Amino acid sequence: MTPLEQKDAPHRRWNPLLREWVLVSPHRTQRPWQGQVATPAAAPRVEYDPECYLCPGNARAGGSRNPAYAGTYVFNNDYPALLPDAPPFEIDQNGLIVARGERGICRVVCFSPRHDLTIPRMQPEDVRAVIDVWAEQYRELGAIPWVQHVQIFENRGALMGASNPHPHCQIWASSSIPNLPQRELDSFDGYQKEHQSCLLCDYLREESKQKERIVCENDHFMALVPFWAVWPFEILILSKRHLGSLLDFTTHEKLAFADILRRTTIRYDNLFETAFPYSMGLHQRPSGTREVRNWHFHAHFYPPLLRSATVQKFMVGYELLASPQRDITSEDAANRLATQSEIHYLDQK
Ligand SMILES: [Zn+2]
Ligand SMILES: [Zn+2]
Ligand SMILES: [Zn+2]
Repeated sequence: MTPLEQKDAPHRRWNPLLREWVLVSPHRTQRPWQGQVATPAAAPRVEYDPECYLCPGNARAGGSRNPAYAGTYVFNNDYPALLPDAPPFEIDQNGLIVARGERGICRVVCFSPRHDLTIPRMQPEDVRAVIDVWAEQYRELGAIPWVQHVQIFENRGALMGASNPHPHCQIWASSSIPNLPQRELDSFDGYQKEHQSCLLCDYLREESKQKERIVCENDHFMALVPFWAVWPFEILILSKRHLGSLLDFTTHEKLAFADILRRTTIRYDNLFETAFPYSMGLHQRPSGTREVRNWHFHAHFYPPLLRSATVQKFMVGYELLASPQRDITSEDAANRLATQSEIHYLDQK
């Protein structure tokens, strides 16, 4: 069998970041679909919505009112999952009933005053302004002595549980490093120890050679469907330099990051001509006083759509009980995304 034919047979792929396997079943992509069909939420078409609690000047739940902001706008979440003054405690009963107090700060960032303007349709300099806010927030929250991790993430679309269509993201700073960043940190450290090099610097070099999974790139970033992707159109954005966080970015790199975010999300929207839902998150070096040299800056996009704007991938059955599984290969997904236009479909008509 040639490597290509091998990839058409059921196989497992190794995720070196999370150190787990994903099952790939490319022969199944022709199976008929009789499952649930989702109704995609229509993208908002108004610049201002008097009912929206994120639009400028509007009242929020809890009694606060937004200022008449003209650019980005950051505020403390009115219903935070974490509290800064949560009391410290520790429970350990025979190593089985174990709990610890957790402190944190939850904020919301509105990308712009426009209710209808998502990243793929924002001007590059306005996306750059959002990146500047992310950098400031990462610096400010990370400087708090008890903060160990700052997670910046965007849930886009009702399918991902976003409660409001106004383009915004969330920032959760916490007093411990959460599960997934901790597993990645262990992988970076383990790989460094074994190979005396960086896991993602080496992976980037491999992908540049193979050129099978690249979606788009510029001088400073590459967007690709990782070899071990679980979600059908999952994307990993990697910085080409070994950077730990947004604080290491040059001005050029911030502009280039805005460029790659726009080009990635335009392709997503164009794929099924819909406001493509996803969870996106930045994975930056953990905060705190510890020197972490092995971390390599990256962003994950996890979109739930499978084969159209209405057919969604579910993580159920085998995936809940055994292992993640996908049908369409990363190579096919990358090719479909790479060949999309870089002009947003709403701007083409
Ligand atoms: Zn709004
Ligand atoms: Zn690196
Ligand atoms: Zn990551």
